Amino acid sequence: MELSRDADACRAQLDAWRADGRSIGFVPTMGAFHDGHRSLMHRARAECDRVLVSLFVNPLQFVQGEDFDRYPRDEDRDALIAQAEGGDLLLVPTVDDIYPDGYPPKETIDPGPIGDVLEGAARPGHFRGVLTVVDRLFTIAGASRAYFGEKDAQQLFLITRMAAERHPEVAIVPCPTVREPDGLAMSSRNAYLSPKERAVAEIVPRALVAAVTLVTSGERDPERLRAVVGDVVAAEPLARLDYAEVVDDAIFQPVTEDLQKGGRYRVLIAVRVGTVRLLDNRSLHISHARLHGSGRCR
Ligand code: AMP
Repeated sequence: MELSRDADACRAQLDAWRADGRSIGFVPTMGAFHDGHRSLMHRARAECDRVLVSLFVNPLQFVQGEDFDRYPRDEDRDALIAQAEGGDLLLVPTVDDIYPDGYPPKETIDPGPIGDVLEGAARPGHFRGVLTVVDRLFTIAGASRAYFGEKDAQQLFLITRMAAERHPEVAIVPCPTVREPDGLAMSSRNAYLSPKERAVAEIVPRALVAAVTLVTSGERDPERLRAVVGDVVAAEPLARLDYAEVVDDAIFQPVTEDLQKGGRYRVLIAVRVGTVRLLDNRSLHISHARLHGSGRCR
């Protein structure tokens, strides 16, 4: 695997591969790799001729007071992991490379109203920062398949829409959430949890599974699903619910009416445990034949 700190050199290498008829898989990340990142690289390796991984802790998507300075960084370890997962090129760009017109950039990408709800409401400006960096990264990567985790469902929704409008040469590939044995979604920020908080964090996947189980047994009222998720979290004094929501997966709008047969929905949760904000979600598919939620129920 080659490591490049130069966006122009990286672009030239990718162009050369494409000219040779090679397909490109692209995995954008902020590093501190865990098995979730590995699963994206693994899939890109299986589906594409060449795999580009980018590692850039994007200052623009951190809201004031967030953990930009202490975000976990270990480039050497990440490079070994990207190589082990079959990466061909690791791009570690500088802020100047990504924002050549100066930082903060004058031109940014507006996520629209969906950028202001749920995660966007909790972190104003976050999705503008995400879309702006992904847009720049797609300009470097060019025609490719780009792999993103369903763990960050709102981000995936907004990136898919942005790519359709601005980068039709990039195909977005959603990838399932990778979890710890107790169900906690893997995240670079899980490293901030103390052992006691880590034990408490298991409430997050448990609350989602409670919603999935209810749907499986026929519940269709989104208000009831939100309430059940909230009740599970409320039973744990060290956890604080930020939001529990059910959205229509196609438009990412909160659902107010009963879930419909044939519909695809998603139950989303954000919970604070200590100083750590944990995000997770599960899809809910109401099939025509019977009701069921996706994912394992315990
Ligand atoms: P990050 O480095 O946190 O920006 O994440 C880079 C990519 O990895 C994003 O597409 C995330 O959605 C994805 N990702 C993060 N955690 C997981 C996980 N537990 N399972 C699958 N994908 C993940």
